[in-house]
Amino acid sequence: MSNVNLKKQSSREQFIEYAKTGKILVNQCIKCNNLLLETMYYCDKCFSSSFKQVSYTGTGKVVTYTIQSVSPEGFEDVDSFAWVVFKLDECGLNVSGFLPGISSPNDLPLGTPIKVIDFSEKHGLVLEKLKA
Ligand SMILES: [Zn+2]
Repeated sequence: MSNVNLKKQSSREQFIEYAKTGKILVNQCIKCNNLLLETMYYCDKCFSSSFKQVSYTGTGKVVTYTIQSVSPEGFEDVDSFAWVVFKLDECGLNVSGFLPGISSPNDLPLGTPIKVIDFSEKHGLVLEKLKA
Protein backbone atom coordinates (compact mmCIF):
# COMPACT_ATOMS: atom_id res chain seq x y z
CA MET A 1 0.00 0.00 0.00
CA SER A 2 1.34 3.40 -0.87
CA ASN A 3 -0.29 6.65 -0.04
CA VAL A 4 -0.68 9.02 -2.88
CA ASN A 5 -0.24 12.45 -1.48
CA LEU A 6 -2.96 14.79 -2.60
CA LYS A 7 -2.94 17.54 -0.07
CA LYS A 8 -5.04 20.02 -1.93
CA GLN A 9 -8.54 19.56 -0.65
CA SER A 10 -10.80 18.73 -3.55
CA SER A 11 -14.53 19.23 -3.46
CA ARG A 12 -14.81 15.46 -3.11
CA GLU A 13 -12.69 15.59 0.03
CA GLN A 14 -14.82 18.39 1.38
CA PHE A 15 -17.92 16.37 0.61
CA ILE A 16 -16.43 13.42 2.51
CA GLU A 17 -15.49 15.60 5.45
CA TYR A 18 -19.04 16.88 5.71
CA ALA A 19 -20.48 13.40 5.31
CA LYS A 20 -18.43 12.21 8.25
CA THR A 21 -20.18 14.76 10.41
CA GLY A 22 -23.61 13.78 9.08
CA LYS A 23 -23.97 16.59 6.55
CA ILE A 24 -24.38 16.76 2.80
CA LEU A 25 -22.40 19.38 0.92
CA VAL A 26 -24.21 20.61 -2.16
CA ASN A 27 -23.42 23.11 -4.89
CA GLN A 28 -26.12 25.69 -5.33
CA CYS A 29 -26.43 27.78 -8.45
CA ILE A 30 -26.26 31.44 -7.47
CA LYS A 31 -28.48 32.46 -10.36
CA CYS A 32 -31.40 30.03 -10.15
CA ASN A 33 -30.84 28.22 -6.82
CA ASN A 34 -30.68 24.85 -8.56
CA LEU A 35 -29.00 22.25 -6.31
CA LEU A 36 -26.30 20.01 -7.73
CA LEU A 37 -24.76 17.14 -5.86
CA GLU A 38 -21.89 16.64 -8.26
CA THR A 39 -19.34 19.29 -9.00
CA MET A 40 -20.31 20.74 -12.36
CA TYR A 41 -18.93 23.55 -14.42
CA TYR A 42 -22.34 24.74 -15.51
CA CYS A 43 -25.75 24.64 -13.92
CA ASP A 44 -27.85 22.14 -15.84
CA LYS A 45 -30.86 24.44 -15.65
CA CYS A 46 -29.62 27.91 -16.47
CA PHE A 47 -26.00 27.23 -17.58
CA SER A 48 -24.63 29.71 -15.09
CA SER A 49 -21.18 28.83 -13.82
CA SER A 50 -21.46 30.52 -10.44
CA PHE A 51 -22.03 28.27 -7.49
CA LYS A 52 -21.87 28.48 -3.77
CA GLN A 53 -21.52 25.53 -1.47
CA VAL A 54 -24.24 24.89 1.04
CA SER A 55 -24.55 22.11 3.56
CA TYR A 56 -27.68 20.33 4.63
CA THR A 57 -28.38 17.98 7.48
CA GLY A 58 -27.97 14.47 6.10
CA THR A 59 -31.37 13.19 7.14
CA GLY A 60 -34.08 12.12 4.74
CA LYS A 61 -36.65 9.55 3.73
CA VAL A 62 -36.08 6.42 1.68
CA VAL A 63 -37.35 6.88 -1.88
CA THR A 64 -36.17 3.62 -3.41
CA TYR A 65 -33.47 1.02 -2.89
CA THR A 66 -31.90 -2.19 -4.13
CA ILE A 67 -30.90 -4.96 -1.75
CA GLN A 68 -27.58 -6.58 -2.49
CA SER A 69 -26.31 -9.73 -0.96
CA VAL A 70 -22.74 -10.45 -1.86
CA SER A 71 -21.72 -12.80 0.93
CA PRO A 72 -21.24 -16.54 0.76
CA GLU A 73 -24.08 -18.86 1.71
CA GLY A 74 -24.70 -18.89 5.43
CA PHE A 75 -23.50 -15.34 5.92
CA GLU A 76 -26.28 -13.55 4.12
CA ASP A 77 -27.35 -11.55 7.15
CA VAL A 78 -23.91 -10.25 7.85
CA ASP A 79 -23.10 -8.65 4.55
CA SER A 80 -26.38 -7.89 2.94
CA PHE A 81 -27.02 -4.22 2.45
CA ALA A 82 -29.16 -1.83 0.50
CA TRP A 83 -28.26 0.85 -2.03
CA VAL A 84 -30.64 3.53 -0.99
CA VAL A 85 -31.90 6.64 -2.74
CA PHE A 86 -33.28 9.06 -0.19
CA LYS A 87 -34.72 12.53 -0.31
CA LEU A 88 -33.10 15.07 1.97
CA ASP A 89 -35.53 16.56 4.47
CA GLU A 90 -34.14 20.06 4.22
CA CYS A 91 -33.95 20.57 0.47
CA GLY A 92 -35.70 17.68 -1.28
CA LEU A 93 -32.59 16.65 -3.18
CA ASN A 94 -32.24 12.93 -3.93
CA VAL A 95 -29.01 11.39 -2.67
CA SER A 96 -27.85 7.79 -2.76
CA GLY A 97 -25.94 5.86 -0.15
CA PHE A 98 -25.16 2.54 1.45
CA LEU A 99 -27.19 1.05 4.29
CA PRO A 100 -25.78 -2.08 5.90
CA GLY A 101 -27.85 -4.71 7.64
CA ILE A 102 -30.77 -4.80 5.23
CA SER A 103 -31.63 -8.28 4.00
CA SER A 104 -35.30 -8.05 3.04
CA PRO A 105 -37.77 -5.35 2.06
CA ASN A 106 -39.37 -5.80 5.50
CA ASP A 107 -36.28 -4.20 6.98
CA LEU A 108 -36.76 -1.01 5.02
CA PRO A 109 -40.23 0.24 4.15
CA LEU A 110 -40.27 3.16 1.70
CA GLY A 111 -40.35 6.43 3.59
CA THR A 112 -38.15 5.12 6.40
CA PRO A 113 -36.26 8.03 7.96
CA ILE A 114 -32.51 7.66 7.63
CA LYS A 115 -29.42 9.73 8.19
CA VAL A 116 -25.88 9.97 6.90
CA ILE A 117 -23.38 8.79 9.48
CA ASP A 118 -20.13 8.34 7.58
CA PHE A 119 -18.40 8.08 4.24
CA SER A 120 -16.63 4.97 3.01
CA GLU A 121 -14.10 5.09 0.17
CA LYS A 122 -15.51 1.84 -1.08
CA HIS A 123 -19.23 2.43 -0.71
CA GLY A 124 -19.77 6.17 -0.60
CA LEU A 125 -22.22 7.61 1.88
CA VAL A 126 -22.91 5.32 4.80
CA LEU A 127 -26.44 5.50 6.17
CA GLU A 128 -28.26 4.48 9.28
CA LYS A 129 -31.95 4.09 10.02
CA LEU A 130 -33.34 6.73 12.33
CA LYS A 131 -35.44 5.54 15.19
CA ALA A 132 -38.95 6.67 14.41
ZN1 LIG B 1 -28.81 27.74 -12.42
